[in-house]
Amino acid sequence: MTHEIAFNRLADLLRDRGEPTRYTGGKLRTRGICHGGDAKDTVAITRISNGVAVYCHKCQGNTDFLAEIGWTLADLHDEPLERSRDRPADDAWMPCRDRGHKRVAQYVYRDEKGAVVHGVTRCDAKDFWQWRPDATAKSGRRWSLNDQQGNRLVPLVPYRLPELLAAKQADRVIWIAEGEKDVHALVDHGLAATCNAGGSGKWTAEHAHYLDGADVTIVADRDAKGREHALAVVESLRRLAHTVYVVQAKTGKDAADHFAVGHTDSEFVQVWAPLPHPQDPAVTA
Ligand SMILES: [Zn+2]
Ligand SMILES: [Zn+2]
Repeated sequence: MTHEIAFNRLADLLRDRGEPTRYTGGKLRTRGICHGGDAKDTVAITRISNGVAVYCHKCQGNTDFLAEIGWTLADLHDEPLERSRDRPADDAWMPCRDRGHKRVAQYVYRDEKGAVVHGVTRCDAKDFWQWRPDATAKSGRRWSLNDQQGNRLVPLVPYRLPELLAAKQADRVIWIAEGEKDVHALVDHGLAATCNAGGSGKWTAEHAHYLDGADVTIVADRDAKGREHALAVVESLRRLAHTVYVVQAKTGKDAADHFAVGHTDSEFVQVWAPLPHPQDPAVTA
């Protein structure tokens, strides 16, 4: 099971699970185990340039399918990328491990100098555990960002802050997504990307100030919460960023879905230009 080719790994995994597959029209098709298994052939699996694309037509994406088979986005690549950061050794503890949950992803937030500030660990039952490093704790971590009175004990930093600052220095566009999974999808496609911990509604001025003078593209999730979140990010950047555009996935709900079906970064659909380049016409929502 150590195929370098993600397509082959996935084909083997489905065969080992006894899932029916059919190769047709250049795609491997299987049933929708992501949504209970009805609708045969609804999931299309395609070999792409350096990995595999998975798309369930009923779910309009691959999030649930990947969760069902215990894969992260990194697994979709031939010779998985950044595995060490995404998926650390299985011996590290998390609070729901005793209930039999397995870790599927871990996201580490770092300060300007690369030191760990806080992190998020996600399990296969979709618990998101926020933690901060603490050398005096048995696991090396405390599973909260606050003290018992609810006061926050760590600064809030955007995800991949050192990479964000380097990209800004190089005048690259900074992409802001709603969650870490989408950030990794963007990064895996060569873009500089960030988000805040905790998902929609948790973006703050503290995150925004790192984007002073930056060219920003926000990928808004295609739902009400996603629009609200994008609006909050836009407002925080109005007097700060150089340019701000808002785009949405061409297919599916978010950046991960968009790339999973093989779209490129230039195919995102622009929905708003709240702070356009001086040469561009302003576009209202
Ligand atoms: Zn599905
Ligand atoms: Zn759990």
